[in-house]
Amino acid sequence: MSGIRPTGFLHLGNYFGAIQNYVKMQDEFECYFMVADLHSLTTHPDTSELKTNVYRVLAENIACGLDPDKVALYCQSHVYETAELYLYLNMLAYIGELEKTVTFKDKVRLHPENINAGLLTYPVLQTADIILHRASYVPVGKDQEQHLEMARNFSNRFNFRYGEIFPEPHAFNYNQVLVKVPSLDGSGKMSKSENQLATLFLADEDDLIRKKVMKAKTDNGPTENNSDKPDYIENIFGLMRLVSSEDVIAKFEHDYNHCVIRYGDMKKQLAEDMVSFISPIRNKVNDILNDEAYLKRVMQQGAEKARKSAKATMELVREAMGLHY
Ligand code: ADP
Repeated sequence: MSGIRPTGFLHLGNYFGAIQNYVKMQDEFECYFMVADLHSLTTHPDTSELKTNVYRVLAENIACGLDPDKVALYCQSHVYETAELYLYLNMLAYIGELEKTVTFKDKVRLHPENINAGLLTYPVLQTADIILHRASYVPVGKDQEQHLEMARNFSNRFNFRYGEIFPEPHAFNYNQVLVKVPSLDGSGKMSKSENQLATLFLADEDDLIRKKVMKAKTDNGPTENNSDKPDYIENIFGLMRLVSSEDVIAKFEHDYNHCVIRYGDMKKQLAEDMVSFISPIRNKVNDILNDEAYLKRVMQQGAEKARKSAKATMELVREAMGLHY
């Protein structure tokens, strides 16, 4: 089970941190993937663009290879059981631990004008989403590691108090380590709502991709053979490892280690490889977005599957909690 907030265009971080794993998992597991519209309300209370963004995230997931017939692909607010479980879990979550969450502290710093209770209990809502399907594997990027630890705490607490209902949820990535795709300016991660000029979106036009990549920070190159790479150079190599072929990567590693690297050439190559990776996805998204009736059907079908699973879990939860009079 996993989800993505409809707060803007999807980017390479979402792809390599999350969606790439969803697509592999759909052939191996029973999967639930959602557009997390309730989560987006914690930071984006203006709903005027929400519908457009929900449809876009759905289309982007499908364009990346998710098959709505194989998985439950749904919208979070269509599964009302989420709100009920969120309420019960809130009684098992302590203010102190919620206030210590890194993402909460970051958001307080960035948006001091809107520190709402939903933001504080964001990890509780996320736990409800996950355990509502009694999920074990949660494909997410590295930024979600702490939230998953909290999800384990909340669900273990439920099990301890009311009886063993939930399996332990764990962050999941096929490559063992969780991924963090860095922003092009080397400061933090690529993100939908922050740092947009340093983020490569799946919707970016070819020329914009080239422009963003060419602006990535570099320097005059190493002066000693086999020296360590500064973070911003390691980031460029990291991006190359995501989309370029092995011989291209090997060539630039070799050039770096022998102090003959030309960063202009490296960025040009990276830009072209990014264009080849992103442009087919972008074109597919645009085709899918033209068929609103199809996307509506996908959402309805997804909600039916997700509610069936959610209802079964909530029966167990109410029974375990003694709420059956
Ligand atoms: P954003 O931070 O861009 O708003 P979300 O919070 O909706 O994205 O996260 C959706 C998924 O994408 C999560 O699994 C998250 O871990 C993953 N993700 C987001 N940014 C990155 C990144 N830069 N690198 C790796 N994974 C990421």
